[in-house]
Amino acid sequence: MEFTREFPDDAACLDYLWRARYSSDGRHADCPECKQRRMFKRYETAQQRQSWSCTHCGHHLHPTAGTIFHKSSTALHLWFYAIYLITSTRCGISAKQLEREIGVGYKTAWRMFNLIRNSLMTETPAPLSGNVEMDETYVGGKPRAREIQAMARMGLGPMQAGQAAARAKKTTVFGMVERGGKVVARVVPSEFQASAFGHIEAHILPASHIFTDEAAAYSALARKGYAHRRIQHAARVYVDGDVHTQTIDGFWSLLKSGIRGVYHSVSAKWLQSYLDEYAWRYNHREHTERGTGQRRMPVGEAKFRLLLARAAAPLAV
Ligand SMILES: [Zn+2]
Repeated sequence: MEFTREFPDDAACLDYLWRARYSSDGRHADCPECKQRRMFKRYETAQQRQSWSCTHCGHHLHPTAGTIFHKSSTALHLWFYAIYLITSTRCGISAKQLEREIGVGYKTAWRMFNLIRNSLMTETPAPLSGNVEMDETYVGGKPRAREIQAMARMGLGPMQAGQAAARAKKTTVFGMVERGGKVVARVVPSEFQASAFGHIEAHILPASHIFTDEAAAYSALARKGYAHRRIQHAARVYVDGDVHTQTIDGFWSLLKSGIRGVYHSVSAKWLQSYLDEYAWRYNHREHTERGTGQRRMPVGEAKFRLLLARAAAPLAV
């Protein structure tokens, strides 16, 4: 798609919101005062966010009310373009890139970036079922030499000191994915065993088949009523028939290459936002690869339209 042809200015973006929210034909809408379908006219004022008014009773409808665009001093057109940029690239862009591309200050770019990500790209998928893989991984920076030395002074060998220092520096992430379905990823405490079952019970239907590695944390799965199979990674077995964790491994590599390529590193404070963004991308992957509806859409276009439709709906409060 050509973004600038479809959304050349603020008026075109506002018209999109008006049609998406209230008026499929752009002229008629249900008037909450008249309690029936009425003709509406665009109410021309000097205000930045214009409204439409009922030609019968004068009631105003505001297409941006309650959305992420509400009360923002940034032009609607720049908001739409930011959503386009974030969805039209496979791995996303950083707030810094957004600042350069749309020509706003860094604080504004950062705020827009987080509103788009935290309000539009977070969603809790329907419970996972069938064949579900789960695993934990560690995300974060490389340890410094003195941090490894500190571990070595505690009596660890060089290899173990390196691993322990890396572990201390990283944040633990727990992920669950249904094969052929959706993923849920959460930042968890480094001793995540205690919290893992809360996440498992919240997101996975009982009697699902769960595949994990041999970590002790998963031992209680069978007692909780799940069918549980383990792959012996320590014995260098990675696939044994349908027993493997390659689907969640695939998500981890997508996440980590994204963080390396786009963001370079991520602080623990923001990690859950990144997990949500990458889970959203993964969970809507069919909207990139095949397109939906009657025609095939190029990479990212369907994702853009999906996110734009969500942006047009008022935020839940
Ligand atoms: Zn009316």
